[in-house]
Amino acid sequence: MVTEAGTTTERRGYFGAYGGQYASELLIDVLNAIETAFLEACRDPGFQSRLRDLLQHYVGRPTPIYRAGRLSERLGIALYLKREDLAHTGAHKINNALGQVLLAERMGRRRIIAETGAGMHGVATATAAAMLGLECIVYMGSEDIRRQNANVQRMRLLGAEVRAVDTGSKTLKDAINEAMRDWAANVDTTFYVFGTVAGPHPFPLMVREFQSVIGREARLQMLEMAGSLPSHVVACVGGGSNAMGIFVGFLEDASVRLIGVEAGGHGLATGEHAATLVAGTVGVLHGARTYVLQTLDGQIRETHSISAGLDYPGVGPEHSALKDSGRAHYVTVTDQEALEAFQTLARFEGILPALEPSHALAWILREASSLKESCVLMNLSGRGDKDMPTVLRALGME
Ligand SMILES: *Cc1c(COP(=O)(O)O)cnc(C)c1O
Repeated sequence: MVTEAGTTTERRGYFGAYGGQYASELLIDVLNAIETAFLEACRDPGFQSRLRDLLQHYVGRPTPIYRAGRLSERLGIALYLKREDLAHTGAHKINNALGQVLLAERMGRRRIIAETGAGMHGVATATAAAMLGLECIVYMGSEDIRRQNANVQRMRLLGAEVRAVDTGSKTLKDAINEAMRDWAANVDTTFYVFGTVAGPHPFPLMVREFQSVIGREARLQMLEMAGSLPSHVVACVGGGSNAMGIFVGFLEDASVRLIGVEAGGHGLATGEHAATLVAGTVGVLHGARTYVLQTLDGQIRETHSISAGLDYPGVGPEHSALKDSGRAHYVTVTDQEALEAFQTLARFEGILPALEPSHALAWILREASSLKESCVLMNLSGRGDKDMPTVLRALGME
């Protein structure tokens, strides 16, 4: 299951110059124990068949790809959507949460903690923990609790405890800090289910592997349905897990252009954005060397995005390596463009997307004239229910 695809590890835990394990001494042993358990699980046919069985019968995999017919015709391209919005709990997050919670159970850890931004990773983790009968605590910034209230209620109904984090910008990065603190204090009983391909080794590798099911399925589905590989694969990038999950299926296909779309917020010039790869510099955040949005003296900058799931000042280290090597290209769209793309998908295809993948679609809409005749595969990473209040407010439709 662990592929050495593309840019992976010359040094253990590194993707080129990025990654590593810049973690507190308290955590190094447990990170190494997780790495060992993960690599064993990858080689264990019993673990793999249980995961495969749950992905099929519980999550609903494989998720389909759908040819967006009306939109394709309008844009003059062939547009295919990988429907992660149809996975159980409504986003790609469940692929990773389920894998890690199964690993926690295998390691005998019955207390699960997680961080969440938009709440989708929290919901996915609470779901997997409920299904396996494990205790679950989710750290969430109080600003995110305010803007993603429906997901807070979902987590509570699933039996998880949601702990509000009131420090810093009260968003995802602060929730991660708090979860790390909890973990360091409770390493012997607790498994930290990390939600994206960032963080210290082995999380970037492990999360990518659990999400790689997206790209493996999508590659086969494109060959079957379109009769060829796509010319472009497009995904939004917050921490980078849905993008890495689909990119990894096409890394070796040199003809396929990989495009990651970051949150341009109010516009790069305003400084109010979350465009880590496009506008950041190299630093260390949450245990990994990677691109970071930071001040000249290394303080983490405040970020902004209309989409809570993209509102993060770091990014997975493998994306940093893919940016430097040029194998993937990273771009931004603004809040406004994402909102317009949201409405376009709703009206043309009858799909309400999450605001995160609306960013990916917004880039496709903007570039449509230069993409004429191409075959574009977009990762529709999640559904829009959680974003209804935000969208209605932004459109003045409350
Ligand atoms: C969390 C989330 C994202 C952003 O996270 P990545 O790790 O970058 O994938 C994107 N889309 C949806 C629907 C999400 O819930």
